[in-house]
Amino acid sequence: MRLPTLPPVLLLALAAMTANASAAEPANPAPAKPKTALVIHGGAGFVPKDAIGEADRRAYHAALERALDAGHAVLQRGGSALDAVTAAVVVLEDAPQFNAGKGAVFNAQGRHELDASIMEGHTRRAGAVAGVTTIKNPIRLARAVMEHSPHVMLAGAGAEAFADTRPEIERVPNAYFDTDKRRQQLEKAQREEAAKGEREARAGGDAPAYFGTVGAVALDVHGHIAAATSTGGMTNKRWGRVGDSPVIGAGTWADERCGVSGTGWGEFYIRNAVAHDICARVAYRGDSLQAAAEEVVNRIVPAAGGDGGAIALDRDGNIAMPFNSGSMFRGWIKPDGSRGTAIHEGE
Ligand code: ASP
Repeated sequence: MRLPTLPPVLLLALAAMTANASAAEPANPAPAKPKTALVIHGGAGFVPKDAIGEADRRAYHAALERALDAGHAVLQRGGSALDAVTAAVVVLEDAPQFNAGKGAVFNAQGRHELDASIMEGHTRRAGAVAGVTTIKNPIRLARAVMEHSPHVMLAGAGAEAFADTRPEIERVPNAYFDTDKRRQQLEKAQREEAAKGEREARAGGDAPAYFGTVGAVALDVHGHIAAATSTGGMTNKRWGRVGDSPVIGAGTWADERCGVSGTGWGEFYIRNAVAHDICARVAYRGDSLQAAAEEVVNRIVPAAGGDGGAIALDRDGNIAMPFNSGSMFRGWIKPDGSRGTAIHEGE
């Protein structure tokens, strides 16, 4: 067959088009780098800016940075979101600045009862412990409940007995969690309670008795999300009181699209299923993560009479960190690698 002869001008134009096309579409395009993201909190609370001295401020930021580094290292080497949130929360539990693990608040009896939970989104596996007293890192025990028991939550003596069967779970005497700062907070709360009565002291205009619950939410290279939360609860809480932090759907939630860790006045977080509500708005209404988190934290919780904050992350790596409590210790590493830590608004 004879090919038609093309005029030279047309031949030149065809050659240029072919060259352009191959420049725009290489034969083997490099796959887009998978996104990872990490967001952490060290608790919401009413901590006025001038109430934190320079040395304390540096210590808070340094602890948040260490937690970010620990979680990020896991994500960078292709590890799971579950391992990343565990690593970040363990660092925050060990830092005495925060109300979780070492540095946990005292209950009304002058002891520490710790709550924690963890959830993996794509499998909907979850584990939690409530009211544990000798577990150095309650988040590790929550994860052990998830991975090595048929249950989601174990409480009190039963959780301690389960820990006896797990040699990897480090035990400490209850006094390990003591710090002077938390003892002073207990004494102050008990003075106020003696003056006003329990209900009024809690509901009164004074700063609420929580500061420093910790949490983390991560997105890994596989597109999976996990969330974790750990706390000593609220200062001067009654013996046996369990807050939102170990309650899946209240203080912690993760699904295929979204993960949340909350911090605040736990009773209101339980009554409003805060962590789940944020992700449900994303799943069912198609709300943006930011809109969903803002609506729940800044409208629904305060309208009910509560306060606090939350960190949230979605499968695109978007991050939201709303709070209505004046301050929230927080840190983040976005998919583009940008990172930061902050305490007050506008930082
Ligand atoms: N939500 C926790 C609780 O009520 C306290 C906190 O977030 O600081 O136990």
